[in-house]
Parts: sequence; C-alpha cells; structure tokens
Amino acid sequence: MNKEKLEFFKNLLLVERERTVKIIEKIDKTWSKSIRESVGDISAYATHMADLGTDSNEREKETYMLERELKNLKKLDQALKRIYDNTYGICRFCGKEISESRLRAIPFAEFCIKCQRNEERINNNNRKI
Ligand SMILES: [Zn+2]
Repeated sequence: MNKEKLEFFKNLLLVERERTVKIIEKIDKTWSKSIRESVGDISAYATHMADLGTDSNEREKETYMLERELKNLKKLDQALKRIYDNTYGICRFCGKEISESRLRAIPFAEFCIKCQRNEERINNNNRKI
C-alpha cells in the first residue's frame, strides 16, 4: 500500500477512534450520574422498584454497548499500530493484501474476505457441536 493510501486509512481510523472514545465517555458519564442518584436517595430507591427494573435493562444494554465499543477501540488501536509497523492492509492469516473496498467498509479488518469467511465457517461449525 502506498503512502497516500496509508495516510487515508490512518485518518479514517483516527476519526473512528475519536467517535468510539466519545461513545465510551458518554456511557461512562451517564453511569456515574445514575450511580450517584441511586446512592443519594435511598427512599426513592425503595419506592421505585418497578423503575429500577427498566434501569437494569438499560444498564444491561449499555454494558453490552460499552463492551462492544471497547472491543472496537482495541481493534482500532491495533490497526493504527499496523499502520506504523507497515503491515496494515495485509491479511494476518494468509499474508495477502486485503481489498481496499473491504478496508473502506471495515478499516480495522485483520483478515481478507476469504480468510474471514473461512473463520466464520469454522466458528459456526464449532457452535453446532
Ligand atoms: Zn487472508
């Protein structure tokens, strides 16, 4: 991959990284706020058990989202590292170049489409067992 293309994907990764960090920060803020609120008002805690049910559902959804974003952040950082190492855009499994259209869709892709599909097939088979 030439320098201009690397630069292009580096920027793409940095923008995506910033967006991910913002989502994580936002979840982090709402969490500390709701934790403060529940600690600050014990009587409300006792009388609004029904509301708490919804809260814990919300919390679960946010936990799931947070985990997903943290995973994304890790992948983005790894992809940025590959840019600096000059191994970006090379399939980690077969060593061939990952297509540009795939990288545009998933800038932190580690595998070419062929290897990714193979891996998904293996995972699906494992799940059946
Ligand atoms: Zn491959």
